[in-house]
Amino acid sequence: MRWNIPAVLFGGSCFLCRGATRELLCGACDADLPRLERPLCPRCALESPRGELCGRCLSGSPAYDATQAALAYEFPADALVQALKFRGELALAPLLAALLAERARAERVDYIVPVPLSAERLRRRGFNQAVEIARHLRGGTLELALCERTREAPPQMELPYEARQRNVRGAFRCSRRLDGATLAVVDDVMTTGATLDEIARTLKAAGAGRVANWVVARTMPHA
Ligand SMILES: [Zn+2]
Ligand SMILES: [Zn+2]
Repeated sequence: MRWNIPAVLFGGSCFLCRGATRELLCGACDADLPRLERPLCPRCALESPRGELCGRCLSGSPAYDATQAALAYEFPADALVQALKFRGELALAPLLAALLAERARAERVDYIVPVPLSAERLRRRGFNQAVEIARHLRGGTLELALCERTREAPPQMELPYEARQRNVRGAFRCSRRLDGATLAVVDDVMTTGATLDEIARTLKAAGAGRVANWVVARTMPHA
């Protein structure tokens, strides 16, 4: 275990099972995390028999080039992500970043860009979970002002992919030219990928050469 977080923050008990541990998670809970170790599509990180490009990526190429996803978005990964996002348990950010780094450690990029929140959402929540995770990642220069959200899309939860795509169209802006740069876009959860697709489109329109998604958790169909 390598999370350098004082156990005193959590009273010396595991965040998930409350068992005694000097880390954030006890060894058993850490070992039980739903790490994505099966073959995945290199572009969208959905299951793909031999780790080849999946049918959806072949037919309608998303703007991003690759996706690194650490965990399946199912219990207890969802509990950790939600505790960070909705309960402000910021001490979970380095843990989630370390899990993501396990998966993405081979990659080097010019810039690491967290998925931005709108100014209004940021004011209400007080922090951006993607920023908190990205702060603990290595492998590129963290850029907090490179990509801005011009408006918050209505909640995406219930919408099918095409509607989500329309929902986020034009919702991001890039603050400068990126001629040929490689980027990693960081988020806590990737669901349909519509938001990440739109961000990658925006970055590519600014000249980005390669855009990879680095996400802590991936919603898997039938999960
Ligand atoms: Zn535990
Ligand atoms: Zn795919």
